[in-house]
Amino acid sequence: MRQDSRPRLRLAVGTPADGCAPRWDDANFRQLFEDSPDAIVLLSEDDRVIEVNRSFERIFGYRCEEAVGRQINSLIVPDDSEPQASGLSRRVMRGEIVAAESTRRRKDGTPVDVRILGYPIFRDGRQIGIFGIYSDISMRRHVERILRLQAAAMDSAASAIFITSYDGAVEWVNRAFSELSGYSEDELLGRDASLLDAGRSLEGLDPRQWQRLPANELWRGQVVVRHKDGHLYTVEQTVKPLVDPAAGIDHFVVVQEDISERVEAERRLHHMARHDFLTALPNRYAFGERLERELDRAGGTGVVAVMILDLDHFKDINDSYGHAVGDDLLVAVGRRLRGRLPEGATLARFGGDEFGIVPSGLASFETASSLAQELLDAFTQPFAVRGQEIYVGASIGIAVHPPGPADARSLIKNADMALYRAKADGRSSFRFYEQQMDREVRRRMWLGQELRGALERDELSLAFQPQIDLDSGVVIGVEALLRWCHPGRGWIPPDRFIPAAEATGLIVPIGEWVLHQACAQAQRWRESLGIELRVGVNLSPVQVREPRLPETVANALQATGLDPALLELELTESLLVQASPTVEASIERLLALGVGFALDDFGKGYSSLDYLRRFRLRRLKIDRTFVAGLGNGSPDPVIVSLITVLGQKLGLEVIAEGVETRAQLDFLAAEGCRQVQGYYFSRPLPPADLEELLRAGNGRIAGLDGPRRLGGLA
Ligand code: C2E
Ligand code: CA
Ligand code: CA
Repeated sequence: MRQDSRPRLRLAVGTPADGCAPRWDDANFRQLFEDSPDAIVLLSEDDRVIEVNRSFERIFGYRCEEAVGRQINSLIVPDDSEPQASGLSRRVMRGEIVAAESTRRRKDGTPVDVRILGYPIFRDGRQIGIFGIYSDISMRRHVERILRLQAAAMDSAASAIFITSYDGAVEWVNRAFSELSGYSEDELLGRDASLLDAGRSLEGLDPRQWQRLPANELWRGQVVVRHKDGHLYTVEQTVKPLVDPAAGIDHFVVVQEDISERVEAERRLHHMARHDFLTALPNRYAFGERLERELDRAGGTGVVAVMILDLDHFKDINDSYGHAVGDDLLVAVGRRLRGRLPEGATLARFGGDEFGIVPSGLASFETASSLAQELLDAFTQPFAVRGQEIYVGASIGIAVHPPGPADARSLIKNADMALYRAKADGRSSFRFYEQQMDREVRRRMWLGQELRGALERDELSLAFQPQIDLDSGVVIGVEALLRWCHPGRGWIPPDRFIPAAEATGLIVPIGEWVLHQACAQAQRWRESLGIELRVGVNLSPVQVREPRLPETVANALQATGLDPALLELELTESLLVQASPTVEASIERLLALGVGFALDDFGKGYSSLDYLRRFRLRRLKIDRTFVAGLGNGSPDPVIVSLITVLGQKLGLEVIAEGVETRAQLDFLAAEGCRQVQGYYFSRPLPPADLEELLRAGNGRIAGLDGPRRLGGLA
């Protein structure tokens, strides 16, 4: 055996000062020497190998015989460690015990990391050599290197990582985590992970929750984290328990991926999908969702109302001021409405000029109606848009549950129908949905369809109603009134079919036909009877808003040869109150043509008399509802007197419509109203009948009750 061939030594290890004698015998030493896991080499004073143990052979690859007698440096010290190795030797030779870590070389040239201990050896108080002990620390070095690399990798990872103890104290963080959370490593170490909790995601950041994780499971989820500066951000987080084989779970590794941007993008998308771009209000879709929620919340006990608010004649504003102004107006309207609505109410823009409203927590049906009125009141003041003061009206349709269905779609549909009704009833008003509206809408649709071919099929005609001057008893004019004889249904009153004609736009060609017919008829009478009869033609606001109107009127006059002064166009109050620049321009052009204007149904709608001065009107027509009240003690006489005085003051002629009785006539005459029109004198008549009447009375109304009495007045 090899080891038997080694020289046997008798040595003492220790410092010269202690002078101790060996307590173990050689055999003990020998065994320690041979069995040591570390390489041990015995060197002479001049660094030559005297003996090596088995571990030396194993670690450095030299057999004992190869090593003995060689200079140790030439054996195992790489060139670049030579000075360091010599330095160590010198120190040991001076009697020091030295320790160092360094790299040595194996026989095959490969490096080996070692921890070196150098002991001086003494004999009889004299240093005779050195013990070199080399522990192979390659494995430790390797592990250290790996750990360093891993730590560097974790530190430079994009993900934020931290490790906590079992009970949640932070033990390690990487740089990304410090950056993400805003806390430095020092501020985090030893703190509880729940320090980062934003208050709404405890599960993600509460170590007590992690402790329930089975050892081989991950917790994964989104967590909202509070940054050191207080702001919140969202991370996708994975928590992995670390298991010690002996102790079970002892740490948690938490990896966080910052997904704030993605969450924000998602939030923005969600917002965009549910909001109107222009006004930033919720859109129709979001409105539906909120209404559903409101219905759920009411749960059959509360009242839920849906209101749809639509601006009156918004198209005119767009047409005359441009879309930019129209857009700004919508924004301004949205803002004003929001200001009028109680907290918690939903205000949405459906697109166009339509807004949806769900007032929350309504006490009753009546609250809905007073709220609707408040909203309409918001439109009495003009909107300041791009340096312009713009008046715009609005109409509101309301559907309420109960009694309406507890279903969002039906409620919206019903509110829409009620809105349609509010519009048809003269706008600037609100209407509640009623069951019968379904029927009405169907009827209106039917009317619209039937009306489509009415002109071509010759179902339309004009009736004329005379207008009488009380002083002279002379017929000074006629009002042309449209008649429709439906082949199946007979006469359909204009009050019913005109709204349908307006809604379908058919009023424009029909109105053009009326103008033409009326002018032609007036011209014929002028020729056949030799009298100049002024003809009044009713204009729908829809026609007046059509910029082509002046041209249409000019054409009718030209084609028939009628003197423009004999044409009187009857306008409605609401049209003038909300007149857009386009409407004003049309009226100017018509005035320039020489036609006159009468204001129809005066006194019914508005209180502002501003526009009376603005538009050069010729005549006010007192609404027949006021005349109907005359002589029976109602306050209407006051209104009639006021209108008469007003007309005189403004230099306008005043005509009273709907005069049916002698009492009404007497009252009007006493109040100074000089012009009248009504069944008392004549119903609207077909042209031939009226002509006969006029011929008989020679321009006066003869052969009827009226004119005979008229005679007495004159
Ligand atoms: P309006 O312009 O106020 O027309 C006067 C209405 O009063 C006519 O009803 C006429 O027949 C009715 N009337 C006349 N005298 C009396 C009376 O003594 N007592 C009562 N109770 N009523 C009287 P009509 O012909 O049914 O027309 C209704 C409405 O339809 C008109 O009201 C007008 O707004 C509209 N309309 C009629 N023809 C046309 C037209 O050609 N174009 C447009 N746009 N609207 C028209
Ligand atoms: Ca009229
Ligand atoms: Ca009228």
